[in-house]
Amino acid sequence: MNTETKTCPYCAEAVKAQARVCPRCRQWLAFRSLRNPAFASWVISGIFILAYLPLVILLLVRMDQSFNPRPLYHESPQKLRLTESRMSWKQFDSGFRIVLTGVVTNESNIPWEDLQFECRFFDTNGTIIDVGNTYGRTTAQPHDDAAFRLLVSPARDTNVYSSYRLTIIDARNGRRGF
Ligand SMILES: [Zn+2]
Repeated sequence: MNTETKTCPYCAEAVKAQARVCPRCRQWLAFRSLRNPAFASWVISGIFILAYLPLVILLLVRMDQSFNPRPLYHESPQKLRLTESRMSWKQFDSGFRIVLTGVVTNESNIPWEDLQFECRFFDTNGTIIDVGNTYGRTTAQPHDDAAFRLLVSPARDTNVYSSYRLTIIDARNGRRGF
């Protein structure tokens, strides 16, 4: 037989130590019981919040997209313009590389990062002889210039390269989300 007692914090009555409900004022003394209405309502609220969390996140993402649009490069009306470029050769230990240096002008309101360049190389007849796809690790800030340098490994002998055409085919929108 256990005669240990505790004092009910609600009515100050001495009740048995194991009592989960005060026999005098009917207050729950053990919080973590699903039969305790206060605890049960906390558990149910928690389940509801978890169930609606994906919906809330989706709503926040949609709101962010409409207030802070981040179009892809091909969706953007104003893009990057190549204002100048030149091609030269450089000899490394592993062989010759084509070096393309230049400047891009960003006419849009969007900072463009990781510019993806495509360079077509032609011989004296204007026939395409080689192609280089490479990234420029530069960021072109809105309404500003950015310089770049690209290295391309040639697939042909250096003397067949006569002209080139450089284009920006893609870039990553640098606007940050929430
Ligand atoms: Zn009580």
